[in-house]
Amino acid sequence: MHAPLDLKPVILTGDRTTGPLHLGHYVGSLRNRLALQDTHRQFLLLADLQALTDNAHDPDKVRRNVIEVALDYLAVGIDPAKTSICVQSALPALAELTMLYLNFVSVTRLERNPTIKDEIRARGFGRDIPAGFMCYPVAQAADITGFRATVVPVGEDQAPLIEQTNEIVRRVNHQAGRDVLLEAEAVIPRVGRLPGIDGKAKMSKSQGNALLLSASPDEIKRAVHLMYTDPNHLRVSDPGSVEGNVVFTYLDAFDPDEAEVAALKAQYRRGGLGDKAVKARLETLLQELLTPIRERRAALARDPATVLDILRDGTAKARAVTQGTLEEVRDGLGLFKL
Ligand code: ATP
Ligand code: MG
Repeated sequence: MHAPLDLKPVILTGDRTTGPLHLGHYVGSLRNRLALQDTHRQFLLLADLQALTDNAHDPDKVRRNVIEVALDYLAVGIDPAKTSICVQSALPALAELTMLYLNFVSVTRLERNPTIKDEIRARGFGRDIPAGFMCYPVAQAADITGFRATVVPVGEDQAPLIEQTNEIVRRVNHQAGRDVLLEAEAVIPRVGRLPGIDGKAKMSKSQGNALLLSASPDEIKRAVHLMYTDPNHLRVSDPGSVEGNVVFTYLDAFDPDEAEVAALKAQYRRGGLGDKAVKARLETLLQELLTPIRERRAALARDPATVLDILRDGTAKARAVTQGTLEEVRDGLGLFKL
């Protein structure tokens, strides 16, 4: 017997609609979202408003990628019968919650957020930081609490943002004198941050170092071939370093045979295992993972009307939930009623 829908704990996660999804999303978040969709009431947010906070000059890209990200969700196995997929800009309650929450966070606190600091550096904003970008953690607090989510499966980079959300929750509840909002917990996997194929700390759409879930067999082959290893490991017989070696981090993330990976690491450290052999193993694993995803995605892309119906249905459900939360928050904070 299934538990009644409303008794299941709620999950909210989302992705900025800045480009198709990549292996980092899969490892950091999608894999957990897939595993949890049977036991939780799950909402996935196509975060187009958050994408605009650093892409206001390119709204076409943000709009186009709403469908691209939705296709990725469905292709990896997100089931619209279990998970509601919704569009952020079609949920005005979230914007209104953001406006209210902005009064419960200081500018200094926003500036201290380590994720934001990293992202500002990576984007080269200098002093011209869009105010919307600086405040996106508050909008994210609105997203999570608006859906009454208590479980948030995300990559490691998101941990400070969940902390920021819970601070806002406590302040709003304190002001309301009762628990209007729920605190949320981040669920972060063992490999919580997949590096880029160039060895940079994080695979990211904005950094051009990603391997897409929709990559062709040749693109997969090329990405693995280019992958950063140990620059001092020149001959097969040389001892090599596993730390900071992207190929081994990927094996940790994608190879189900942990004992075999441990044995390979030991052999690599001793010397006698070549990059070519390790890369061949990884390439096989990635081709096996991505082939069915790519094929499902291509089939779905031929039927955009069905994808739009899924988004309309998910967004309607999301509208009801988020509007309900907004009304409770307005009430809790004592706003004027007409
Ligand atoms: P952008 O560069 O536009 O910010 P992104 O690649 O960082 O894009 P987001 O949409 O910001 O992707 O992130 C969505 C989710 O995917 C978050 O939960 C984030 O933690 C996770 N994620 C993204 N990249 C990685 C990665 N390299 N490793 C682990 N998790 C990741
Ligand atoms: Mg990001």
